[in-house]
Amino acid sequence: MKIAILSQDASLYSTRRLREAAEEKGHDVRVINYLRCYMNITSHNPTIVYNGKTLENFDAVIPRIGASRTFYGTAVVRQFEVMGVFSANESQAISRSRDKLRCLQILAREGIGLPVTGFAHATEDIDGLIDTVGGAPLVIKLLEGTQGLGVVLAETKPAARSVIEAFRGLEANILVQEYISEAKGADLRCFVVGGKVVAAMKRQGPPGEFRSNLHRGGSATGVKLTPEERSTAVRSAKAMGLRVAGVDLLRSNHGPVVMEVNSSPGLEGIERSTGVNVAGKIIDFISKNAKPGSGRDRIQY
Ligand code: ADP
Repeated sequence: MKIAILSQDASLYSTRRLREAAEEKGHDVRVINYLRCYMNITSHNPTIVYNGKTLENFDAVIPRIGASRTFYGTAVVRQFEVMGVFSANESQAISRSRDKLRCLQILAREGIGLPVTGFAHATEDIDGLIDTVGGAPLVIKLLEGTQGLGVVLAETKPAARSVIEAFRGLEANILVQEYISEAKGADLRCFVVGGKVVAAMKRQGPPGEFRSNLHRGGSATGVKLTPEERSTAVRSAKAMGLRVAGVDLLRSNHGPVVMEVNSSPGLEGIERSTGVNVAGKIIDFISKNAKPGSGRDRIQY
């Protein structure tokens, strides 16, 4: 098969591993910097041009779209879809998952466990918002944040009030969330490929840190999931329309709760901590499923 990996940087661990895994399995693979592509969207024969040449005859693309590049990145993925090329994740599913609020609304509709969550832009009723999630301590998140930036634990109601006021002054969209203290600074990253959890790791924040993000100094170890955690991860990926997804769960007193579903989950932490060849699983899934026009997204939200 001829596979394109859409990535800004061929030297990134995830990009390198996907390329290696595809080559090992005998595929013809190319890394394409999607930001440098341009597209002819008007013709009967839609095209994508890269480095002065039209991209042709690809069977599948693997999008690795940076969070800050969602708009242009998903446009390039969509163009491949218009050309009938199979994508490991469809453009619509990527866009959907990039909006944290939309993601939580979709999961709630499917009856998937979530931390109690409120959403606001410029409410005057700050106390009401805080009470929605059961008062302090609570977590306040900027809707546009990634890698744990813009995620604040407010231990008291006055602290929560001032953080919310500050974010309101910045005109930011915020989520407020019940604080799952029993997770003890750890979360679970479940790596789902084609409706199965292929690997899972537990990430633990450094002492005194409630955020477990590896970028914030957290450490990762392989973990065995309970059947309930496994099915929550699989259902979450399916609800979002993602074939490849990193589903982040917290172990709460009321069962697994989902924080986020990621459409370009990193491979380094999960492969190193579990020893699973996750890149190989993604390539196997693509080679089994890549048929032109297969599996169009049917999610309504
Ligand atoms: P980001 O998308 O920026 O990584 P997250 O919403 O995933 O932000 O939050 C970062 C980390 O903070 C999570 O991995 C988790 O460890 C911790 N965290 C987030 N929300 C909660 C919560 N409601 N209760 C307890 N811990 C949380």
